[in-house]
Amino acid sequence: MRLVLLGPPGAGKGTHAQVLSKDLNAVHVSTGDMLRESLRAATPLGLKAKTYMEKGELVPDEVVIAMVAERLSKPDAAKGFILDGFPRTADQAKSLDKTLEALKMPLDSVLYFKTSLEVIVARLSGRRVCSKCGKTFHIRNFRPKVEGICDACGSALVQRPDDREETIKNRLEVYEKQTAPLIEYYQKQNNLEEVPGDLEVDPLQAFLKDLFIQKGTAKR
Ligand code: ADP
Ligand code: ZN
Repeated sequence: MRLVLLGPPGAGKGTHAQVLSKDLNAVHVSTGDMLRESLRAATPLGLKAKTYMEKGELVPDEVVIAMVAERLSKPDAAKGFILDGFPRTADQAKSLDKTLEALKMPLDSVLYFKTSLEVIVARLSGRRVCSKCGKTFHIRNFRPKVEGICDACGSALVQRPDDREETIKNRLEVYEKQTAPLIEYYQKQNNLEEVPGDLEVDPLQAFLKDLFIQKGTAKR
């Protein structure tokens, strides 16, 4: 299964991408995670991305486009992939179409996580991430077993610099302006499937399972 997850920051794309990637045996390709990884490793790409990410701006198209094209060309992507956080601009979407055409791997579906503003702000401001492994928690909705500590690896949980209230506002503006137009782009390609992003994790997971597993993964 080849999917794109589209929707505002805080819609739950990352959380559900992880689950779907297991259920559908597809690789999870998160541009945000890849960029944060480069940042931690202080690669030239990471250093370039840093200033944009901290301000909640988009990293330049050519950087992410090349990064995703390279990732999707790896052999494991042939079994299927879940793109999370890409495409985010019209140029990224067009380049993705070209890349996938060249690889003969057309998209099966674009899941649009339709989410209200209130829910987005509450989720982002309460989000905490592991400083070491990147696992995500929430101070109210998804607490770690021990406060401030990652369940998976025992490292400290921190707030992402771009999850601070002043940056959230900017990210939402960037989303509205640059990414929201992709809803129509994929609607025109007849590929868009709307999912209720306001639902809590478990019910939305059930919704998605229903969509893909019970109705058969061959759904188009
Ligand atoms: P969220 O979806 O919660 O905003 P991500 O982890 O997907 O978070 O992205 C964090 C940041 O990484 C973005 O604000 C942006 O700076 C950068 N980024 C991620 N994906 C892209 C992309 N496709 N194009 C440009 N910048 C990106
Ligand atoms: Zn951890």
